[in-house]
Amino acid sequence: MRCLRVRPGSGLHLSVLLLFMIAPSAPVLAAAPPGTGTTAVQTPPAGPAFDAAAATAAYLAKVPPEQRQRSDAYFEGGYWLILWDFLYGVAVLWLLLAAGWSAALRGLAERLTRLKWLQAGLYWAQFLVIFTVLQFPLTVYEGFFREHKYHLATQTFGPWLGDQAKALAVNVVLGAILLPILYGVLRRVRAWWLWGGLVASAFVMFVALIAPVFIFPLFNTYTRLPDESIRGPILSLARANGIAVDDVYVVDASRQSTRVSGNVSGFLGSERISLNDNLLKRCSLPEIEAVMGHEMGHYVLHHPYKGSVFIGMVILLGMAFLNRSFDVALRRFGSKWKVSGIGDLAGMPLLLLLFSTYLLVITPITNSYTRIEEAEADLFGLNATGQADGAAEVALKLAEYRKLDPGPLEEIVFFDHPSGRDRIFMAMRWKAEHLDRAEQRAASAP
Ligand SMILES: [Zn+2]
Repeated sequence: MRCLRVRPGSGLHLSVLLLFMIAPSAPVLAAAPPGTGTTAVQTPPAGPAFDAAAATAAYLAKVPPEQRQRSDAYFEGGYWLILWDFLYGVAVLWLLLAAGWSAALRGLAERLTRLKWLQAGLYWAQFLVIFTVLQFPLTVYEGFFREHKYHLATQTFGPWLGDQAKALAVNVVLGAILLPILYGVLRRVRAWWLWGGLVASAFVMFVALIAPVFIFPLFNTYTRLPDESIRGPILSLARANGIAVDDVYVVDASRQSTRVSGNVSGFLGSERISLNDNLLKRCSLPEIEAVMGHEMGHYVLHHPYKGSVFIGMVILLGMAFLNRSFDVALRRFGSKWKVSGIGDLAGMPLLLLLFSTYLLVITPITNSYTRIEEAEADLFGLNATGQADGAAEVALKLAEYRKLDPGPLEEIVFFDHPSGRDRIFMAMRWKAEHLDRAEQRAASAP
């Protein structure tokens, strides 16, 4: 599932400037070893005594040590980036408050118009542009230079910068819609944290609903998949699982990166299956089926809806934390910063600072939530497709940018998807219990 959550490694942990922010299609992708697209699925020895653990070890051993080292370094570097992103973001927000810039921006918005809702939109636009400019050194290192250093990105600087600009424009518009409503609540309602939390949660769902239609196409092009030999099996899988679609789309993800991914998106009748062109180029049909079975699992298991409820709870708890902490900080610094109260736009950097602290602290919880859903989708995909070896091969491809074999605590804290080792073991465990079916699928592979 690739909904609106800010992607790991995209360096926007802080500027999870609320979860509604759209990260530009961050090229967090994998190096594509040339010519891997044609690799046939290799079936480790199967027999009456098929040993899932041994088969898992055999798959893990296929990754050359230098490749393992590189992806470990990339992924572990990401742990530190979570911290640097946070500290850097806090420093920028603090600067905006302490230097009196935030109060000046609010003053300017008030001079420009007497309409409260327009003041909120104007403040937000100024704030976001300045924040983005101050964050730019870290963004460009993390999103551009580091991605290229690990051979994960395909974009040159111009188009990359263009995507950043588009993301900024989208976020200006989204914030200009949300903030007038949110500040209306903060100013008028006593239990502002409760009603503000509900407004923010509803807004996140609204963005998730419109993004596939209005936002994603700004960054990538979606076209109909012409190849019947791939369309056919995917649509058959969809029909078998009660997903009402009659077409499959391809998204040109290779514009930014080489990552393999698929997606079943849609809400309320706008269902659509899309897969990215890297998946098409780099994977065999069993691997494509394994990925699409996983993505359909998210859909059938109602993960977008459950995820919305989860995000809603995260936001509400966060607002409750703001309710306690905002006044404490304000009593200490409010007069220095010229922030008069919760309803004062000039206090927004403080709200963001506190909220991002909260999000940092609960990272292991949010990661565990998505990791568990991802494991559910894996199991659904195995049961739906029977492509155990296809799933294991894909797990190896994903391990190009995700550490393959982490420690248990490391996985709980930092992994928003199961590690490659866990995914391969799940597939091999499934295979051990379905040997006839797995053999049959592997034999019928082209
Ligand atoms: Zn998934």
